[in-house]
Amino acid sequence: MKGERIVGGLSCGEVLDRLSDYLDGDLAADVRGALEEHLRGCDGCARFGGEFRMTVQAVRAHLLASPAPPSRLRDRLAEALAREPGRRRGE
Ligand SMILES: [Zn+2]
Repeated sequence: MKGERIVGGLSCGEVLDRLSDYLDGDLAADVRGALEEHLRGCDGCARFGGEFRMTVQAVRAHLLASPAPPSRLRDRLAEALAREPGRRRGE
């Protein structure tokens, strides 16, 4: 993939593959750490567009603001996404 970056030992594609598991708290601690490391350091993930972009940005904002267990993170993300304007598709 063009512009693919390896950050924290994961590529952007690998991060996006695991993003839903991450939000569910289903990842092993080492994978979760690598994913968080990637999201903190990678601008490429925010370029995927749509839901991924919003989710990635919300995760990043959260990680930069305060580390917390994934269960709490998920609540915070749901709030952040609910507040995000323009989440309607098309029309
Ligand atoms: Zn990335």
